[in-house]
Amino acid sequence: MDQRLYRPAVMGILLLFGLAAATRAEDLKTRNIVLITTDGLRWQEVFTGAEKELISKEHGGVADAKALEEAYWRETPEERRAALMPFLWSKFGGEGQIYGNRLRGSSSQITNTMKFSYPGYNEILTGFADPRIDSNAKKPNENFTVLEWLHRKPAYDGKVAAFSAWDVTPFIINRERCGFPVMGGWESVPELDPNPRQMLLNELITDTTRPNAAEVIDSMLYQAAREHLLRHKPRVLFVGFLETDAWGHAGRYDNLLHSANAVDRYIQRLWEQMQSMDEYRDRTTFILTTDHGRGTGPVNWRNHGKTIEGAEEMWMAFLGPDTPPLGERKECEPVTQSQVAATLAALLGEDYSAHEPRAGTAIRDVLPQSR
Ligand SMILES: [Zn+2]
Repeated sequence: MDQRLYRPAVMGILLLFGLAAATRAEDLKTRNIVLITTDGLRWQEVFTGAEKELISKEHGGVADAKALEEAYWRETPEERRAALMPFLWSKFGGEGQIYGNRLRGSSSQITNTMKFSYPGYNEILTGFADPRIDSNAKKPNENFTVLEWLHRKPAYDGKVAAFSAWDVTPFIINRERCGFPVMGGWESVPELDPNPRQMLLNELITDTTRPNAAEVIDSMLYQAAREHLLRHKPRVLFVGFLETDAWGHAGRYDNLLHSANAVDRYIQRLWEQMQSMDEYRDRTTFILTTDHGRGTGPVNWRNHGKTIEGAEEMWMAFLGPDTPPLGERKECEPVTQSQVAATLAALLGEDYSAHEPRAGTAIRDVLPQSR
């Protein structure tokens, strides 16, 4: 029998007996993925909110400790984290899943040994740690990302885009080869025919004094990604925010918290915008994560890298129509950064692990459970 005729027939029989495989595209509601990263945001802030010791001039470089306390300090970790990232905790915490709270038996680690950004984004996007990647140098990645792998399939051709505040990301994604729009750092938006909003944004990007030469301001990156979404309706969109890392390195705990709070708002607005659009409503999954953690204590909260204890600890979160609403995960199987790529693909019904055996496997709990 012709394979094309055979498969639907078998699927029909399986469905009849309630045995359908959980990760076939036919069984999934997800048609679109938004992958959002916020660079080097610690799991400590995500799960327990602001840290008392760092809300100070001495350890956190905080300009106005009283105002920062009012904004983010609360008595319990649950209240603090909800004050810092209200959308994450109300929405992902209620209807999605959040991994990485070591205090409750959930581990989420990187598998590369570098504990900095290029190796981390490589691991997120390709599904494996590559020991050859040992610096943030602007070298085109020889590895193929899951984004490029999807883009080569007809269903995703012209429907993938990546927006990152960091000017190294176009090399990590290999813009020269990948064939889809990539924005990195202080570049004009990737648009041949910019509309008035994009023209305004390009002027701001050109004219604004740059606090960090390698990293465009997150609010501008957000607007660039949002406008691309409205105009081109990608099926797979990567958005990479950077300020949570930059303010850590700068030793400014106040601005780090404000940046995390702003990222939470960007996520909320993207989610609500997409739920108002027919292309995306009830068929879109959001994946949130980070490229690395940071150290602990009054000095090392600023730092990460090979020698920094704890910078291998990260977190990840999922929200969408196929992900069981288990909320904050407790006492569960450990997950790793290397599983993000295959999980992203699996939510679209695609088997990335079969193509790339070095990649971590899809996280089963995030997918619909077999009946
Ligand atoms: Zn980083």
